[in-house]
Amino acid sequence: MDGLLLESVDALRRWYVDHVFGATDVTTIDAFDPSTGAAFATVPVCDPTVVNNATQRALVAQREWVRTTVQERGRLMTACADRIDSIADELALLLALESGKALETECRGEVSLVVEIFRYFGGVAHELKGHTTPLDENVIGFTTRHPHGVVAGIVPWNVPLMMMGYKVAAPLVAGNASVIKVPEQTSFTLIRVFQELTDILPPDVVHFLTGTGDLTGAALVADPNVSKVSFTGSVETGRAVYEASAKLIRPVTLELGGKSPMIVLPDCDIDKAVHGVMQSMRFTRGGQSCTAASRVFIHRSMIDDFRVRLGAALDEIVIGPALDPATTCGPLVSARQRDRVQAYVDRAVDDGLDVQTFGTVADGVDWDGGYYVSPSAVTDPPVDHPIAVEEVFGPVVCLFTYDDVDDALARANDSEFGLSASVWGRDITTCLRLADALEAGIVQINQNAIMVPGIAYGGIRNSGLGKEGSLEAMLDSYTYAKTNILNYGG
Ligand code: NAD
Repeated sequence: MDGLLLESVDALRRWYVDHVFGATDVTTIDAFDPSTGAAFATVPVCDPTVVNNATQRALVAQREWVRTTVQERGRLMTACADRIDSIADELALLLALESGKALETECRGEVSLVVEIFRYFGGVAHELKGHTTPLDENVIGFTTRHPHGVVAGIVPWNVPLMMMGYKVAAPLVAGNASVIKVPEQTSFTLIRVFQELTDILPPDVVHFLTGTGDLTGAALVADPNVSKVSFTGSVETGRAVYEASAKLIRPVTLELGGKSPMIVLPDCDIDKAVHGVMQSMRFTRGGQSCTAASRVFIHRSMIDDFRVRLGAALDEIVIGPALDPATTCGPLVSARQRDRVQAYVDRAVDDGLDVQTFGTVADGVDWDGGYYVSPSAVTDPPVDHPIAVEEVFGPVVCLFTYDDVDDALARANDSEFGLSASVWGRDITTCLRLADALEAGIVQINQNAIMVPGIAYGGIRNSGLGKEGSLEAMLDSYTYAKTNILNYGG
C-alpha cells in the first residue's frame, strides 16, 4: 500500500482525536483494506457522551447560523465545494483505499459528484420561499420556511461522499446544523472532508462522528438535541431508526434498499440496454448500489442475444485492487459483505440455477485476503428464490425471460421495494404506459443514470420515506413551513 497514503491516514486519525476528543485515550475499531484484508489503521469510536457534546454544541451554533443571510450560507456551500474540489485526488485515493471501490471508474466520479452537490445547494439558497393565500379584505396568509434545528445525517459506506454531501449541504443551506454519523468502513475519507469544512464554516455547525452503528449511530438518533433524522442505509437499520424516532415524534427521511426492475422491450436497441444494465448495476462499484437494476426482464425473442452481449461486456471487467488504475471493479467493502454476496451465489448454484460468472482477474490479485467477488448473471431463477427477491448488494444480476409485456410489468411491480425502475424500447407510447405503471420513486426510459443534484430521488415501500437531492427535497426534508396570518388593515 502507498506509504504516503498511510501517513495521511495516521495524520487524519491524530487530527480527529485531538479535534473531537481532546485526548488520546479513545476506544477504537480496526479499519481494513478491502483489497488485501489487512488492518491498516484504527478508527476512534464516539460514545454517547461525545455524541451528546457534539449535538449540544451544534444546537448552540445553529441558533447563530440561522441568523446568517441565505446569501452567506449559499456562498459558504460554494466555498466548501471549491475546497473539496481542491483535494479531489487525495479524497479519491482515500475512498479507494477504504471502500475497495475502483479509483478510476468509481472514486474520482464520486468526488466530482460531491463537489456538484455542494455547488447545487449553494445555488438554491435563494429558493427558501413560501406561499401566499388571500384570506379576507386586508388579510393575507403566508408561509415561511424554517430549519428544524440539528439534523442527524446517517451515512452508508457505499457512496459516503455523495450521501454526506446531501446530508450536509442541504440542511446547512436551509439553516440547520448537521451532525453526521460517519460509516465505519469509510471513516478517513469523511474525516478529510470534515477537516476542510471546519476550516470554512462557523464552529460547530457541522460535526462528523466516527464509530459503530449500534453505539454512535443509535446514540445520535436518540439524542434529545436532534430535531430531524436523515438516514441512508439498510432496511433493517432504517426500521430501528424509524422506531427510535417515533418514540420522540421526530421527522425522519429514510433512503433504504432496492431490487430495481428494468423492462427490456423487443424493439429496443440491445446494445444500449446492455449498457444500461452495466451502468445501473454499478459493477464498477461491485454492484453495491441501492438503485442497481438487479432484475432485468427481457423479451423471449432477444434473451439469447442479450445474454451473449451482456456476457461480453461483463468479461471486459478487470477485477483488481482498488488503487490500481487498470482496475475497473475492486473488491467489496468488507469480509462480511463478500461472504453475504457469495452465499447468495453459492446457494443459487447449489439449487441448480443457471448461474454464469464473468470478469477478468488481474495478475497478482490477493483473492484470498481481499474481499473479491466475480460478477455473475442468474437466468430465470424461481420468482421466490432469495437471489430473485432480496437485495444482494453485490455484482449479481438476475435475468428473467418474458413473453407478455403486461406479465413483465406485473412481475416488475411484485417487490417489497420501490426505489428505481426503467423501461427500454423505441415505441414511446409503450414506454410511457409502462413508466406510468411502474411502482417506484424514480422511473427512467432508455436511461439508467441518476444521482445528479437537482433530481430528487427516494423510494416507496421498503425503499424508504421522503426524497433527497433536489430543491423540493431540501424544503420537505430540512425545513418546516410556518403559517403566518397578517391583517394589514391597521
Ligand atoms: P447499514 O444500515 O448497515 O448502515 C448505514 C449507517 O447506519 C452506518 O453509518 C451505520 O453505522 C449506521 N447504523 C447502523 N446501526 C445503526 C443504529 N442502530 N442506529 C443508527 N445508525 C446505525 O447500511 P450499510 O450496509 O452501510 O449500507 C448499505 C445499505 O444502504 C443497502 O441496503 C443500500 O441499499 C442502502 N443504500 C440506500 C441508498 C438510498 O438512497 N436508497 C443509498 C445508498 C445505500
